Amino acid sequence: MLSPTANHPMRIPVQLIDIGANLTHDSFDHDRDAVLQRARDAGVVQMVVTGASREHSPQALALARAHPGELFATAGVHPHHATEYTAECDSEMRELHAHPEVVAVGECGLDYFRDFSPRPAQRKAFERQLEIAAETGKPLFLHQRDAHVDFMAVMKAFDGRLGPAVVHCFTGTRAELFDYLDRDWHVGITGWLCDERRGQHLRELVKHIPADRLMIETDAPYLLPRTVKPAPSHRRNEPMYLAHIVEELARDRGEDVAVTAANATATTRAFFGLPASS
Ligand SMILES: [Zn+2]
Repeated sequence: MLSPTANHPMRIPVQLIDIGANLTHDSFDHDRDAVLQRARDAGVVQMVVTGASREHSPQALALARAHPGELFATAGVHPHHATEYTAECDSEMRELHAHPEVVAVGECGLDYFRDFSPRPAQRKAFERQLEIAAETGKPLFLHQRDAHVDFMAVMKAFDGRLGPAVVHCFTGTRAELFDYLDRDWHVGITGWLCDERRGQHLRELVKHIPADRLMIETDAPYLLPRTVKPAPSHRRNEPMYLAHIVEELARDRGEDVAVTAANATATTRAFFGLPASS
């Protein structure tokens, strides 16, 4: 537990967990240790490093192993990379999932907004990874953008076989949100909330997410919250800004920030099976 000092102007004496940080991204190569230290100073006590490709999933595991108890990893192939999901890739993913530091299957799902991979390839890679989740019982770290109907259909085919699931970086509609909550899935909220151009609708929607279904994430280095003041001179997001996201989220939910943060942390530890931080 942190308390505010002159050196770290943290106003929230609570522990935060970033469930989605792409810390293997090369934009962190020159100062990764400093990024982790700034996160700690902002009250971020644990982070789940997103593995989203064949190349980066093993790196996410390596990073988690280098920071036991603090960093954890997911292993998966993002829909953008779906064409790389060969039989060999499937075995690589299964090997990664044998490690206890890999706490979730994903990032996987469907993205019809960018369509960087053909849709049939996306659905196939998604199904292969759901198969791994079904076999291992691990939680799912899911991505869905502009593909809600197909996404729900693919998930439905695995009904009754999957463990817990989080739809990360939720940016969708009210109907989509309630579809997820009806299925008992969790929802991850990022700094998209702070985007007055495209995240305004989330300000009202986040009130409807039960505390035991709500988790928080930066999706760093993407999605730098637009309401961070003073605006950084760069566009790179990093986990320390989770403290800002939870403040905005708490305000929208009409809650004390300490309550929102403590609930999200408890929900996250239960979801991924994380230990209490030392
Ligand atoms: Zn995503």
